[in-house]
Amino acid sequence: MQYDFLVVGAGISGTAAAYELALHGSVLLVEAETATGYHATGRSAALFTPHQGTPLVQAVNRVSAAFFANPPDGFVEQPLLSPRGSLTIAEPGQEDQLQALLALSAPGREVHEVSAAAALTMAPLLRPERIGSAVHEPGVADIDVDALHQGYLRGFRQRGGTLVNGQRITALDRVGELWKAQTPDATFQARIIVNAAGAWADHVAVLAGVAPIGIVPKRRTAIIVDSKPDINTRAMPVVDFTSTEAYFKPEGGRVMASLGDEDPVEAQDIRPDEWEIAVLADWLQSETLLTIRRIEHSWAGLRSFVVDDSPVLGFDDAVPDFFWLAAQGGYGIMMAPALGRVAAELLLSDNWLDDLAHQGITAKDMGVSRLIRGHQPAVKSRDT
Ligand SMILES: Cc1cc2nc3c(=O)[nH]c(=O)nc-3n(C[C@H](O)[C@H](O)[C@H](O)COP(=O)(O)OP(=O)(O)OC[C@H]3O[C@@H](n4cnc5c(N)ncnc54)[C@H](O)[C@@H]3O)c2cc1C
Repeated sequence: MQYDFLVVGAGISGTAAAYELALHGSVLLVEAETATGYHATGRSAALFTPHQGTPLVQAVNRVSAAFFANPPDGFVEQPLLSPRGSLTIAEPGQEDQLQALLALSAPGREVHEVSAAAALTMAPLLRPERIGSAVHEPGVADIDVDALHQGYLRGFRQRGGTLVNGQRITALDRVGELWKAQTPDATFQARIIVNAAGAWADHVAVLAGVAPIGIVPKRRTAIIVDSKPDINTRAMPVVDFTSTEAYFKPEGGRVMASLGDEDPVEAQDIRPDEWEIAVLADWLQSETLLTIRRIEHSWAGLRSFVVDDSPVLGFDDAVPDFFWLAAQGGYGIMMAPALGRVAAELLLSDNWLDDLAHQGITAKDMGVSRLIRGHQPAVKSRDT
């Protein structure tokens, strides 16, 4: 069968785009693993953090926020976001380092200074002597990643989309006006390739004879440990520090932590490094009242970046009908609703900048000049 769109990768990025596209054309979503969400999507910290990332990332997340608050009818039964809040701690003597974060405060995305005593009430695991001053950001939320991903997959199927998993694309050839995609077991034909292969996005590009964009997968390690039995951590915010990229947060009655490490590696099914785990456990004990006797769970995932840490989406400049949806870095879950829609608009029509302007997002805010923009869309929307 011949499809309008073949989306490579059923992580959150590819699935969100496939869901949006399935309203307008025939879509095949191809995933190498037997389980969707096996790589970065299933290994995140599941946070919505409106003030993190480049200006482009923050602008994209303002658009995503509307979807999270008000998903389409029937998309999901439970809320996609639940309030978590974040607390950023400056050590004594480093109080001025909170100014940049305070300056980001905006209506609906407030950031407040709180006293050390209030910070301790919110996060009683902290060591009092380590708190110089603190900032609270109530808009940070937990994302129900599984509900979001399953909502997209369910809606995709309801819209007539086809998911094939356990099939890695191993060859992409242009035959006339079509792409021929091969896996070890099958051959598919499509008019447009959407490259949402996460850490493997450059590998997929090379298969198609497209120049890589310099994706660098970076490993991040995380652990889950028991909390202190006498402290209820369920309502605790995420705790960040101005002096380090490390953070911790509650996770189902336990505590999840990461050093915020960013080690460049090859694309792979990444495993946590024992040394990183030991350093992380040591850091967590030094910043909190926890005594760690056992690591309950540890994992590592890949956050994939290009040089300016902003996502890349749009048609390739040189090779026709090859569309990039890559480099979501550490923000791909929260950006997925907006990027899925923008990707569909770019693939279907040329009026997306106007649409975004109507939502209060200007091209400048979106950093549009850096998006790769190519030729006119090859597939016209059925309803426009
Ligand atoms: C520790 C950690 C914490 C994070 N915390 C957050 C957070 O709090 N909030 C947030 O928003 N983001 C967070 N992220 C980032 C987020 O997880 C990623 O940005 C997002 O999951 C990327 O999704 P993706 O679909 O692009 O990639 P992936 O989920 O990796 O999906 C890509 C898919 O493509 C498939 N694929 C690759 N090559 C082929 C091929 N040739 N044929 C077929 N399929 C192929 C892969 O098997 C994979 O399933 C975190 C990441 C990590 C690792």
